[in-house]
Amino acid sequence: MRADATVRASERARRRLITLNAEIRGCRLCHAAGFLDEAESVPIARDPEPDAPTPRILLVGQAPGLRATITDRPFAGAAGNKLRDWFEQGGIPREDFWRKIHFSAVTRCYPGRLPGAKGDRVPSPQEQALCRPWLDGLVDVVKPRIVLLVGLLAVRTFHGPVKSLAAVVGEATVRDGILYIPLPHPSGVSRWLNEPANVAAVARAMRILREAVDDLDRVR
Ligand code: SF4
Repeated sequence: MRADATVRASERARRRLITLNAEIRGCRLCHAAGFLDEAESVPIARDPEPDAPTPRILLVGQAPGLRATITDRPFAGAAGNKLRDWFEQGGIPREDFWRKIHFSAVTRCYPGRLPGAKGDRVPSPQEQALCRPWLDGLVDVVKPRIVLLVGLLAVRTFHGPVKSLAAVVGEATVRDGILYIPLPHPSGVSRWLNEPANVAAVARAMRILREAVDDLDRVR
């Protein structure tokens, strides 16, 4: 009986998530405000994989990259491969990467390149504010047990004015029953990962994730 109730609650959450995603995909607030070009940037909000359980692990990045916009799948490229390597150490097999994690970001549209630089533009505070209700709504629907914060913008969105990645990667925080695990962006463009101490901090974060995933699997 209890198992039936759990399955029904999970299915309700799944349907709410799919409805929320449809609303996000229809959002054009930043286009209307002049921050984004309609032809270059549409919101990304992927529904959970058809055969997957309702995700209890939420990943929050900065914003989708160009490849994600083209493939409609965040972290599909080389940076995603590195993330999959890390998460295997964290107890999430590569084949479960898309099934067990729900992917989100501080803003949901590709912000375009940073002029004169290799990386993408960081979404402005105004864009972050416009997109925040979608993120809050997502947390409310998914009710994640684990939130993976990828990159400094995601970390600051949840933890306030953190000084640097080095101050938080390798540590985790529990708030309102949610475990927050800060991580660097896995991009090869980032030089942060050239430091052995920072690589060791990521390994510590993956040990924390593995324990939390084991706990999650036990209560499923
Ligand atoms: S970034 Fe967020 S708020 Fe802005 S248009 Fe995209 S989905 Fe809407």
